Amino acid sequence: MPHPAYTKRSGHQQRRAALIAQLERVGAALCPICGGIIVPGMFVDLHHTNPADKRAGLPGNVLAHRRCNRGLGDGKKAGRKTTRKDKKARQSREW
Ligand SMILES: [Zn+2]
Repeated sequence: MPHPAYTKRSGHQQRRAALIAQLERVGAALCPICGGIIVPGMFVDLHHTNPADKRAGLPGNVLAHRRCNRGLGDGKKAGRKTTRKDKKARQSREW
């Protein structure tokens, strides 16, 4: 009689292990976020192509680069780019 939370985590891990085994079998996969290649040995996360699955607490259905998956929804990097433009504008004002 496994604890419900344990079962859920185990389902996620089983899905991830199965997808990694598949990746090792075929040798490469495409990251659904950046479109780049994923090869065995890379850090990967389970990614949800359907946000409803994520809300329902289901495990992700595809592998994605860990960096790509965790960068999703992070607007901070884009904000930094704007700051760089602001700096240029400030410099031109000094001239
Ligand atoms: Zn990626």
